Amino acid sequence: MKGYINSIQSLGTLDGPGIRFVAFLQGCNLRCGCCHNPDTWALGQGEVYSAIELVDNAQRFREYYKEDGGITLSGGEPLLQPEFACEVFKECKKRNINTCLDTSGSILNSKVIQLFKYTDRVLLDIKFTTDEMYKEYVGCSMDEPLKFLEYLNQEKIPVTLRQVLIPTLNDNEENINRLSSFAKKYPCVDKTELLPFRKICKAKYDNLKIKFRFDDIPEPTKEDMEKLEPML
Ligand code: SF4
Repeated sequence: MKGYINSIQSLGTLDGPGIRFVAFLQGCNLRCGCCHNPDTWALGQGEVYSAIELVDNAQRFREYYKEDGGITLSGGEPLLQPEFACEVFKECKKRNINTCLDTSGSILNSKVIQLFKYTDRVLLDIKFTTDEMYKEYVGCSMDEPLKFLEYLNQEKIPVTLRQVLIPTLNDNEENINRLSSFAKKYPCVDKTELLPFRKICKAKYDNLKIKFRFDDIPEPTKEDMEKLEPML
């Protein structure tokens, strides 16, 4: 089983607990307006790895993982390569490496369910909190991530809910309250994070000759983040 990898971050601190080896898998089924990795969208590109090769690579940094660090599969959407992801996590579990899946939660099928058996934590990126905004700015219905969350809750898999704070679109109390209500409704959610919308990705869009849909939206300030974070 081979996987297509867009890029690797050997010692990441932003995608899951502790210090983590983060592999960004190639391919995405969505087209979020705020996406900072448009280079991951196309399927079947990137560097080809076997699961063992990837985990061997992660193993080299093991001393940094300590208690809570480990490996994170992100993307793109890692659930477009569920069998590869499953082999990677299965191998990690054999070697006692913590596993974390960073996903938009828009794909739930038998292969994904198999992968959950070896998943220690899910970072679930809830892009917005209304179906209208999901359809307009993400490209799927909000029912998809909510069904996904329901399933994770049923299986008691720990979840970190994450949302990118995008000025003028979701930087308001109503949105934060709705996000917070999802967290309260599902006991599997033990952490909720707001991430600032950033436009450093603009160069990637220019290189790919793709229009950056949120080019005119400003980045949130530190004060914007500090005002809304306590409401979670
Ligand atoms: S799900 Fe992630 S990788 Fe895919 S378009 Fe949205 S932000 Fe980008």
